[in-house]
Amino acid sequence: MEKSKVVLLVCKDYREENVDKAIQQGIEKLGGIEVFFSREEKILLKPNLLAKALPEKAVTTHPAIFKAVGKYLKSQGYTNLYYGDSPGNPIGAAKVAAGCGIKEPAEQLGIIPADFGRGKEVEFQQGITETHFIISNGILECDGIINLCKMKTHQLERITGAAKNMFGAVYGINKGAFHAKYTDADSFAKMIADLNNFISPRLHIMDGILAMEGNGPQSGTPIEMGVILMSRDPIALDTVFCHLIYLKPERVPTNRYGYEYGVGKMKEEEMEIITEQGSLTVKEAAEKYGSKEYDVYRGGEKETQIRLLKPIQPLLRKKPFIIKEKCIKCGICEESCPLEVKAITLKSFPVYDYKRCIRCYCCQEMCPRQAIDVKVPFAARLMDRNWKI
Ligand code: SF4
Ligand code: SF4
Repeated sequence: MEKSKVVLLVCKDYREENVDKAIQQGIEKLGGIEVFFSREEKILLKPNLLAKALPEKAVTTHPAIFKAVGKYLKSQGYTNLYYGDSPGNPIGAAKVAAGCGIKEPAEQLGIIPADFGRGKEVEFQQGITETHFIISNGILECDGIINLCKMKTHQLERITGAAKNMFGAVYGINKGAFHAKYTDADSFAKMIADLNNFISPRLHIMDGILAMEGNGPQSGTPIEMGVILMSRDPIALDTVFCHLIYLKPERVPTNRYGYEYGVGKMKEEEMEIITEQGSLTVKEAAEKYGSKEYDVYRGGEKETQIRLLKPIQPLLRKKPFIIKEKCIKCGICEESCPLEVKAITLKSFPVYDYKRCIRCYCCQEMCPRQAIDVKVPFAARLMDRNWKI
């Protein structure tokens, strides 16, 4: 059995020389860029461009990572380069890329914005859960993709890493329709697994230099993790991320179903963690480079396990809530709630209808002022002795 290689490189800051060195070393440890792409191919760099945010907020992939990958490709004779993402943000991809600092290095390096302003419906017959997607043209028109994901927490899936970053391939507002169709973390993760099998990026690079913990993926707290992870296997990469933050990988639905649907590997014996000092076990990597303090929900999904006990479900379900002191009443949360659900009404402040709310957390994800947090009810925490390590 061939093991999935995950390269873990220490990179303590975003200084150009440090990031350049790490990117080059990592790609070489995976066999060199030629094993991923031929020089004639049209290559898309797909950063996480969730929202317009300064790089130090750790919401998006840092421009230094984007630049280092672009520079390395150019130095190796790869010139047919594009970039883009379909942000959840209504202001559009170009403005988000400019606001996140990605547009400037792209222009310097001649990396062209791909078409994320239009999309097409595609059929994926091999899909187990989903066989139809509406995908941005920028994704469909390239030959191969480098997934430049960010190390962050996520309210629905616990983490957003390599596998979840591909949700940005779904064109514009269709993301909301998928949230409305796949209303829980498990079903959503199954769709994400199919999407990954359909798009199948060839290389995944995770920016974990400045990661995000807590109320991610937009409103969390930046935390220095000082690593870059790389792999051709998104599930193995996300699994190593989980080990670094002492979160059981199988508690992340995108890992569980990514593994089950054949996207990638999750078991320790199926992976090799490669560092500058040689290969490490999961335990060694976590002890050397991980953080037990990283703020992520580590508990079990009690609400799933006791689905039959309907009367006490409301006591156990997580829910979003507004922090009024931070809210500027912009209405973005109301707009980002899937059309099919519409569980928020903007009155003097946004008001939730929790009976309608499907807990997709799009509102929390898109709030520009960190004014939405998520409560895990006391009863749920009480029932789960593992909710903190
Ligand atoms: S909660 Fe956030 S998104 Fe909603 S109105 Fe307030 S600031 Fe805007
Ligand atoms: S209120 Fe927020 S969490 Fe609930 S369905 Fe709407 S966007 Fe999703």
